[in-house]
Amino acid sequence: MQYNVSVLYPSDARSVVVGGVNGQFKTVFQKLGALHAKNNFAFAIVAGDLFAASLEAESTDAADVQALVDGSIDVPLPTYFALGNHPLPPAVGQKLESEDEVCHNLFFLGKRTTMKTSEGIRIVALGGQLDQNIIAGQSKDKYLPFYTETDAKILRGATTADILITNEWPEGIQKRSKVEFNPEAQPSMRQCIADLDVILKPRYHFSTSGNTFYEREPFFHQPSDDTDNLYPVTRFISLASFGNPNKQKWIYAFSLEPSASHPVSPPTGSTACPVTLSEKKRGAPEHREQHLVYDDGSRGRRGNKRRKGESRGPITASECFFCLANENIATHLVASIGENSYLTTAKGPLPASQTYPKLGFPSHMLIIPFSHQATLGSMEEEERHATYAEMQRYRRAMNSMLKSVADTEYGSVTWEASKSSLPHTHWQYLPVSADLISKGLVEAAFKALAENLHWPKFEKEDVGDGFEETSDFFRVLVWNPKDDPDKQTSYVMRFDEKIRFHNQFGREVLAKLLRLDNRVDWKNCGQTQAQEEQDVEKFKEAFKNFDFAA
Ligand SMILES: [Zn+2]
Repeated sequence: MQYNVSVLYPSDARSVVVGGVNGQFKTVFQKLGALHAKNNFAFAIVAGDLFAASLEAESTDAADVQALVDGSIDVPLPTYFALGNHPLPPAVGQKLESEDEVCHNLFFLGKRTTMKTSEGIRIVALGGQLDQNIIAGQSKDKYLPFYTETDAKILRGATTADILITNEWPEGIQKRSKVEFNPEAQPSMRQCIADLDVILKPRYHFSTSGNTFYEREPFFHQPSDDTDNLYPVTRFISLASFGNPNKQKWIYAFSLEPSASHPVSPPTGSTACPVTLSEKKRGAPEHREQHLVYDDGSRGRRGNKRRKGESRGPITASECFFCLANENIATHLVASIGENSYLTTAKGPLPASQTYPKLGFPSHMLIIPFSHQATLGSMEEEERHATYAEMQRYRRAMNSMLKSVADTEYGSVTWEASKSSLPHTHWQYLPVSADLISKGLVEAAFKALAENLHWPKFEKEDVGDGFEETSDFFRVLVWNPKDDPDKQTSYVMRFDEKIRFHNQFGREVLAKLLRLDNRVDWKNCGQTQAQEEQDVEKFKEAFKNFDFAA
């Protein structure tokens, strides 16, 4: 063989990963075809740029891209390509707007992805470079090679990965390593990518490094209950580009059995994990991350402790719109990401942008736990305490924001339907004018509608994190701006299946109270994405001095 790579394959190789292809995909697919004929790979990964940096309209490169999109270049096996340093060619972007694949067998991983191959291998990918200047908005375009810290944080919700693919390197990856690495250009190293290694504990982490290959000693993660006291091992491999002048390794075959168990002790030649979680610097406990459960979508109460050997289930696109790991959630609505929960603006907010003139934005917010659980009460103790505390912290922080903007003009109402048949618990938060609160009209409005519907009575009572509760309940937390921002008056209505509780109850009451009857259905309050983004920006601006997670 003329390729210096052919000797590298172990006999049981099942998949293959290549570095940057930089537009030479015709040649690379031919080579992959020849290797695939001998090795029968399950799939291939292109960890770096598949396409060249830019295309002259009349060039052969542009003609090749067109031929690829038209399906006249053979892609010999399922191939997943990442987003590297180059934007996708427009013809490819256009094709992906209407189709899932660029051509038969060729799939774009996207800039922020969690997916599962048909072999059950879970791939998490973060493409492009960290967008240092988000104001420019480049990170929002899905075919431009930029990502944000939020994109990286969202992927932490995937909980686990078999393969992690990132264009940039994790901060600190060379620590504890004896392997030499003398690149022409140092790869950018990012703490947010180090966080992904710590949390996802991938079996393989693939990246690229220009004309230089780097394979670190495998590193092991500390055993814990969550790893069944075994040692998960990560192999970090950074490939050179195809055709690099140094003849460095640009292709790597590997075999991966997703159900294989982790070793009982650190393998020979491995090192301890070189990277650390950013939270550690702030003193947060590491094990918290292991509770970022991504559920398989089964509804209802469910402990978040996996049984040994129990499958984690596939991540599919449309399952849960409150799970941060869901790639289809509207991430442009996200306003703040905490340790256990996050804050988003409501889609189709009840108030309009001018309902609260002193704010100038709806400020209808959702406080959503990371954990995919029906109720706070069904979370495990530690997670429940931390999550409830942080949701309250968000409520207080927003109350402080209202006070800073409007003095004592607006108070707030926070409500929650704690119902075991709901997929993912959350709170809704809304400002209301202070006189409605001081006159007792908020409390009266909830009680009156419940009474009209012949539902159980509201009790003035605080049920905390809900753990003691044995039935479904609906609660309202009212804050009077004359009080400190952490004060609340809590009302609870417990109910069972004898009543037909509807989940829009809280919104319905407030629509009547605020004389926004025509906006009771959120679907009638649709905004364009530009309007939504504007409201998020205005909220963030007002909230920035109170955002403890920023
Ligand atoms: Zn969820």
